[in-house]
Amino acid sequence: MARIVMKFGGTSVADLERIRNVARHVKREFDAGNEVAVVVSAMAGFTNQLVAWTREAAPLHDAREYDTVVAAGEQISSGLLAIVLQEMGVPARSWLGWQIPLMTDNAHGVARIRQIAGETLIERFRQGQVAVVAGFQGIAEDNRITTLGRGGSDTSAVAVAAAIGADRCDIYTDVDGVYTTDPRIVPEARRLDRVAFEEMLEMASLGAKVLQVRSVELAMVHGIPTFVRSSFDPPDGPQTGPGNLPTGTLICDEDEIVEQQIVTGIAFSKDEAKITLRRVADQPGVAATVFGRLSDAHINVDVIVQNVSADGRHTDMTFTVPRADFEQAMAVIEASADDIGYEEVSGSADVVKVSVIGIGMRSHAGVAAQMFKALAEKSINIQAITTSEIKISILIDAAYTELAVRTLHSLYGLDEA
Ligand code: ASP
Ligand code: MG
Repeated sequence: MARIVMKFGGTSVADLERIRNVARHVKREFDAGNEVAVVVSAMAGFTNQLVAWTREAAPLHDAREYDTVVAAGEQISSGLLAIVLQEMGVPARSWLGWQIPLMTDNAHGVARIRQIAGETLIERFRQGQVAVVAGFQGIAEDNRITTLGRGGSDTSAVAVAAAIGADRCDIYTDVDGVYTTDPRIVPEARRLDRVAFEEMLEMASLGAKVLQVRSVELAMVHGIPTFVRSSFDPPDGPQTGPGNLPTGTLICDEDEIVEQQIVTGIAFSKDEAKITLRRVADQPGVAATVFGRLSDAHINVDVIVQNVSADGRHTDMTFTVPRADFEQAMAVIEASADDIGYEEVSGSADVVKVSVIGIGMRSHAGVAAQMFKALAEKSINIQAITTSEIKISILIDAAYTELAVRTLHSLYGLDEA
């Protein structure tokens, strides 16, 4: 017997037929004697519709009322799943954020979880019930409903798993796991059996949109083995796979990965734009001014490259911002021209960030050299480079995305045999 969290995303609960399919997955785990908390997203497309209505009602609206509206989708799906489970003879009860309660801070629309009263759900397990939790939502100290940011029910699921001391968090989704890269770009991409928390964190932040980044952070901090699997696999019948798990990808501690590869995956993100300042003064405080102004405007800067000054007085500086913030970032830089002091600013949104990820890099030299050589052979120009212990990211012209990703995928032996 185990205590598990099962999370189902929007496409898995898109209509009543799919909700019945979800219920069969839940019944299977319940009948096997497990204690089960289910976390659901809103039915596919529903949250988008709710968001659109708030914008239509008033482009600039009260964030508290935004949350009142957009949290509604999960109320419906959790109630429907509880009804269908009861109909199948599984004692189930729905739980909205405020009923548990799942406490958050008061950053409406992007709230962070502070505390979850896990005892409430554990008490229900003792009574033999399945708890169906509405994902994405919580309640702030001022007693108002909050939401956790788009894609937030992944985070609800992992946080609930931590709060109830679950053995595992199963994320059921519309793909059957995490791949070495996007299979739409590289048909040879392979599903990974296991990925380390840290690697998944990099992949999620770099554009592999399987899980909300925050949920991976939480899984890592609390050490919750998180299993990404497909809800479209047959719900009944034997669930056999590696380590007694069905097919999918287990996100776990690196110690649990026996056959560690040097490179685990190639991620890419087109959500970047690049800004270059020419001939900025090479003196203390300039970077602080540039990035201070951007941070005041809530713009995140990612890759930063600054040259060593040739004349001892001036240098060039390039950095990237999210593409959605590109125009605003250019405006901020132009408005601060006098304070920063530069000769020319230019920018481009035609860039892509390609990253090679793997914890094996910590103990292997030469990964970067191989990467640069392979790209050079394809005449792909690298505009900027940034590295961490387990990742190398480069910025290139967006037109070369596919070529670069394919080249790197086979370079590191990731293609399916
Ligand atoms: N329904 C919410 C959204 O679409 C939360 C989620 O699906 O995770 O963002
Ligand atoms: Mg999602």
